[in-house]
Amino acid sequence: MTDTRATESLKQVKERLRELVVGPKYDLLIEPLELESIEGRQVILVGGGQKQVEWLQEEFGGQLTEAFSRVLGSPVEVIVKPGETAPEEASPLDPFASLGAVAMGVRARTRPLLNPRFTFENFVVGPPNQFCYSAAKAVAERPGFAYNPLFVYADVGLGKTHILHSIGHRTLQLRPEYRVILVTSEKFTSDFIEKVRTGRMNEFHQRYRQCDLLLIDDIQFIAGKVETQMEFFHTFMSLVDAGKQIVVTADSPPQELKNIEARLLSRFGSGLLVDIGPPEVETRLAILQKKAELEGREVQEEILRFVAESVRSNVRELEGALIRLLAFSDFSGAKLTLETARRVLADFIKGQSGRRYVSMEQIVDAVCEIFRVNPNLLIGRDRRKKVADARMVIMYLGRQYTNLTLAQIGEELGGRDHSTVSHGVTKIAQAMDEDPYLQQMVQRVIRKLS
Ligand code: ADP
Ligand code: MG
Repeated sequence: MTDTRATESLKQVKERLRELVVGPKYDLLIEPLELESIEGRQVILVGGGQKQVEWLQEEFGGQLTEAFSRVLGSPVEVIVKPGETAPEEASPLDPFASLGAVAMGVRARTRPLLNPRFTFENFVVGPPNQFCYSAAKAVAERPGFAYNPLFVYADVGLGKTHILHSIGHRTLQLRPEYRVILVTSEKFTSDFIEKVRTGRMNEFHQRYRQCDLLLIDDIQFIAGKVETQMEFFHTFMSLVDAGKQIVVTADSPPQELKNIEARLLSRFGSGLLVDIGPPEVETRLAILQKKAELEGREVQEEILRFVAESVRSNVRELEGALIRLLAFSDFSGAKLTLETARRVLADFIKGQSGRRYVSMEQIVDAVCEIFRVNPNLLIGRDRRKKVADARMVIMYLGRQYTNLTLAQIGEELGGRDHSTVSHGVTKIAQAMDEDPYLQQMVQRVIRKLS
């Protein structure tokens, strides 16, 4: 391929991604990418530092591969090399080790998908999560020994997934030969259904019953799935009998999970139950300090304190506020001051501090306007994606910006029950993590509310 055509393809890929990726992340991760070569089906790019490259892979690996494949008109593999430093720990068995690169696509998916940022080192410990943190570390250090299962529950955005990945990382550090599986209960379900359909249950058993550590995220999504629950119960029992460790997360304690078999709930209850509470201001400050440090940025303490005092809902939003500030200072080139921080976060924060005063009605109106959905459709069973998304965003914002209980929020949406609302909240939060466009829509709603 000619150099011009190669350069042109990178330009087109960036254009495509600019539409999909929200501002600061685009500037931080995608804009700096440079093309090293395109040979056969392999595209080699050079990115920022090791951390940025891992982040890029984790978050946009799929989109990057897809965009290149489209622009070039045939499927390719995209490899991104860190531009600054080469990693020391590349294994000699790794075919890409000589490149110091992180491969995307098929290869990455064969390892447990552990988010490189979700480690114990990056987890800030404070009163609301101290116990959970200690229990999780104990489990990673002595799997199958003390608490089995470990059952972690918390509201959305408080660090369940982070803790689960941390256990995976630490276990593999200490015991690289271990077979670690990390899946959401939805992935477990779809895997199960597919293996049943294609008559490959042996494979399924081999995968799940012969691992050393099974990490299951968001078990509440297994509700109502009778066959999957039965299969999960047997998987669970055979692992426990073999002394293998299981860790489960959920959005509520076992006794409050609806539509899950009693015998499964009683097994969950027989291990160690730990919850994570919302962080108080000092922990929020420590989290912001940690995040700024991870981004390699220096931000004055008074500014971080201001953010910590203003954003109270959950850690995900706390991070969002910081990213917005950093992005602002990148764009404007201006040094961050308390004054600019106040200005930049004004709408964010008005929403937050006024959160107790927003009514469900306001939320419904704002969501319907931004999502262009007829409010009458919300109370019914309409399952079209747009309507379902709008409904779940209302649940999420209802949870964040009013003091209504899950059941009361459900009431407002045509008498849905507490567990439906709870599912909706987690699902949309996950979807927002993966879909920058949805994230933007929700931000627009929040701005409208303030
Ligand atoms: P959940 O799975 O409970 O919805 P996540 O684990 O996805 O929440 O956490 C949301 C975000 O907040 C993640 O980016 C995570 O790294 C961050 N986070 C949560 N708790 C902490 C903590 N104690 N220290 C550092 N980061 C945290
Ligand atoms: Mg999670």
